[in-house]
Amino acid sequence: MHVLVVGAGVGGLCLAQGLRKRGIGVVVLERDSAPDARAQGLRLKIDVHGRAALADCLDDDHYQLVTATANEPYQSRGVTLDENLNVLHSSVPAQPVDEATASIVVNRHTLRQILMSELTGHVFFGKEFERYELVDDRVVVYCRDGSIWVADVLVGADGINSAVRGQLVPDADVIDTGLWSIYGQLMLDEQNRKWLPENVFGGSRPVLGPQGRTLALGSFQPQMPIDQAIAQFASRAEISPVAPYLKWNLIAPAEQFGVSADEFFSSSPEWLHAKAGEMTAQWSPVVRRMLAESLSAVTFPLAIRASRPGAFWSTGRVTLLGDSAHATTPVGGVGANIALRDAAALAHNIAEVADFPDLLQQAIAQYEAAMREYGYQAVRNSLAGAERILRSKRLLDAGQG
Ligand SMILES: Cc1cc2nc3c(=O)[nH]c(=O)nc-3n(C[C@H](O)[C@H](O)[C@H](O)COP(=O)(O)OP(=O)(O)OC[C@H]3O[C@@H](n4cnc5c(N)ncnc54)[C@H](O)[C@@H]3O)c2cc1C
Repeated sequence: MHVLVVGAGVGGLCLAQGLRKRGIGVVVLERDSAPDARAQGLRLKIDVHGRAALADCLDDDHYQLVTATANEPYQSRGVTLDENLNVLHSSVPAQPVDEATASIVVNRHTLRQILMSELTGHVFFGKEFERYELVDDRVVVYCRDGSIWVADVLVGADGINSAVRGQLVPDADVIDTGLWSIYGQLMLDEQNRKWLPENVFGGSRPVLGPQGRTLALGSFQPQMPIDQAIAQFASRAEISPVAPYLKWNLIAPAEQFGVSADEFFSSSPEWLHAKAGEMTAQWSPVVRRMLAESLSAVTFPLAIRASRPGAFWSTGRVTLLGDSAHATTPVGGVGANIALRDAAALAHNIAEVADFPDLLQQAIAQYEAAMREYGYQAVRNSLAGAERILRSKRLLDAGQG
C-alpha cells in the first residue's frame, strides 16, 4: 500500500506520521519551496480531538514534545471582555483542570517542525500538484515541475484552495463571510506583564468592541523552554526557539477597513498594524498600548472564509482531508483539530486494510462518512460564529445595538 499526500500542513503531516508509524509507505508533496518558505501563523488551540489524534499518530516522545512546548492544559472558560477589558461574560471554570478533556495551545511553526521529525525522505518541497489521472488501480499525480508520482491512494490535504478538490469535486464552493481580520503579535516580557491585566491570559479571549468589531486575544506561554523539552523528550528533533507572546486579531466587516480587497491584501505589515490601532483608537488605553507595542513587521491580513458544507464525491482512490474538505472560519478555533482528527481516522482505516486491497474502498468510504458528519457540522458552527459578529454590526446599523 502506498499513499500520496498533497500538502504538508498540519493535517497532511499528521497523516504521514500515522501511516509511517503503522509501516505504510507515504510521500507528501508540498508546493512551498522549503519548510520555512513562508510564515506559518501564530498559535493554535488544540482540543481533546486534536490531542488524541496527535497522540495516536506521533511516536510517544514527539507527542510529549508537543505538550511540553505548549501552554499548560486549560479548560475552555468562555470568557468575553468589553473594549475596556472588563469581563462581560464568564462561565464557571472547571476546577481542577481535567487533563483528559483540556485543551492546549501550541505555536503552529513548532507543531509543524515536530510533525516533520522522522519524515526525512517522505516530504518533498517545491512539488505543486497540478492534476491526477486514474490508471487501472493506481493514481498518477502530475506536478508543475514535471515530476510524476504513482500511488494506490491520493489524499488532498492542500488547504482551503485545494487543487485536488478542484478536480475531484469541481462544484465545491468556498464562502466569503464578508469579514476581514488583521493579526498581530506582542512578545511577552517582564515589563509588559506588569501592565497587562490577568484577564487577557488563560485561553481565547474575545474582546467585543463597539461597531461590531472583535479583538480576539490568546497567549502562547510554553510550559518548558524548547531546548529543555528537546533534551528531555526527543534530542534529534530540529525545533527553533520561540519566546512567549500574546496574539491578537481584529475582526470586522470588510467595509470598515476603508480600502479595496486588492489594497488590503497587498498592504504592508506596517500599514496593517497602524490600521488596527486606528480602528481601536477609542478602546481602553491598555488595548491601545498592547497593539502599539506589538511587532509591526509580522502583522498580516486574512479574509474570513469557509467551505460551503455538504460537498459530496463518490468514494474511490482519491479523498480529501482537513481544510480541503471542510475549512472553518477561525471563530471557535477548530479547523486544525478536525484536520488532525481526519488524519488519525484515515491512517487507522488505511492501515487496517493494508493487506486486503479489496477492502480499501470500504475503509475510505467509512472515513469519508464520519468526516463529513463532524467536519460539516464544525463548518456550520463556525459560520454561525462569524454570523454573530456580522449580526452585531447589522443591529448597530439598524440602531438596535
Ligand atoms: C490565522 C488562523 C488561526 C487559526 N487558529 C486555529 C486554532 O487556534 N485552532 C484550530 O484548530 N484551527 C485554527 N485555524 C485553522 C487551521 O489553521 C486550519 O484548519 C488547518 O491549518 C488546516 O490544516 P490542513 O492541513 O487541512 O491545511 P493547511 O494547514 O492549510 O495546509 C495545506 C498545505 O497544502 C499546501 N498546498 C496548497 N496547494 C498545494 C498544491 N497545489 N500542491 C502542493 N501543496 C499545496 C500548502 O502550501 C500548505 O502547506 C486557524 C487558521 C488561521 C488562518
